[in-house]
Amino acid sequence: MTEPDITPSEPVESKERVAHSIRTLRELVDYVAGKSLPSLTPEEGRVTESQPFPYLAIVGQHEMKLALLLGLINPNIGGILLIGPRGTAKTTAVRSLLNLLPLVDRSNCPYGCLPEDIEAGGIDAVCPDCAKKYGEGISLTLPDPVRLIELPLNARLEDVVGGIDERAALHERMRIRRGILAQADRNLLYIDEINLLGDEIMDSILDAAAQGNYTVRRGPISATYRARFVLIGSMNPEEGKLRPQILDRFGLRVIVHGLENIADRLEAYRRVQAYLANPRQMVGQFSGEMEAAASEIQAARERVRKVALPDRVANPAIALVQKMGIDSLRAEITWFESARAYAAADGREEVTAEDLQMVAPMALRLRRSNFMTEYLKGQMGEEKELKSLLNGLDRRRNARKKSKK
Ligand SMILES: [Zn+2]
Repeated sequence: MTEPDITPSEPVESKERVAHSIRTLRELVDYVAGKSLPSLTPEEGRVTESQPFPYLAIVGQHEMKLALLLGLINPNIGGILLIGPRGTAKTTAVRSLLNLLPLVDRSNCPYGCLPEDIEAGGIDAVCPDCAKKYGEGISLTLPDPVRLIELPLNARLEDVVGGIDERAALHERMRIRRGILAQADRNLLYIDEINLLGDEIMDSILDAAAQGNYTVRRGPISATYRARFVLIGSMNPEEGKLRPQILDRFGLRVIVHGLENIADRLEAYRRVQAYLANPRQMVGQFSGEMEAAASEIQAARERVRKVALPDRVANPAIALVQKMGIDSLRAEITWFESARAYAAADGREEVTAEDLQMVAPMALRLRRSNFMTEYLKGQMGEEKELKSLLNGLDRRRNARKKSKK
């Protein structure tokens, strides 16, 4: 067996160097794609804490990596669906986001109380502890990284929306156990094999995602929870279709293919082997770039609020959506929001036609529903039929009128 020909180890670049030579997140992603790994010493039989595979070390899959990063930068893109066969790094990519997740302000109370709750519903809208803190001027939130919440396929509806806690105190907010959806607030909610999830659970997730909150009712008790999350689903189409109305609810849709290029496949193999042999060292070799990417994402997330979409750029895009025969308004919402994220990732505050072009396939594919096209065609036929029947009725009536005379 010949030794794999790995380029002799270059010194790992210092953070300063990375920060200076790389201007934007986009450049950073491309830069790391061409990085070759120095050789690693296997770490024999050592128990290591779980370290996710470095996101930037995933070979190829440019569109998938871009879509997930856009989701971190702008939660308004409305979710991401990854469609592809097994073994195409879909789950790896999602879990690898862990070290790139930005910070958000989050409630530091187990019941999720927020100052907005008090502003909207008065002091009784929060738990007694938080009411006291609020009165004393103590903050109810802390900066905290976005989390990756995975929904297990065997989750019950009660786990998803929450259940009633008989042992808890009488305060209404405390009697209902927060479900996975409430825990997913301001986080990423990942569902692998989403096409196998039960309809009832899927509908409750999509409704919460669309509204940004949901209400649980148990007899006389009810509680409303915030659920502003970025939904990420992955599926293998060989294992079952996704209902068309569910497909439409996802902003970006990425078709994930296996790597086609032989050199890419070999590089992917080597990186996975290196990771398995010595995760800590392998992760360390990408840590400079990962830290640079994480701070770029945080900056882009703040910048995206200021990114403008000029009419002259938006109008031709809407015309194109119409020309494609796409009815769903979600098409342009997603398209524009992801283009804004793309511009923010490039350090700009205005969307260009090129930004729209870069994200168009992800935002627009699988939007045209065969069902709707056929349905409308059929409907048109029905309308025509109805009209001619009514005309016939008119003629007969006129004929009767004439015969009476
Ligand atoms: Zn509280």
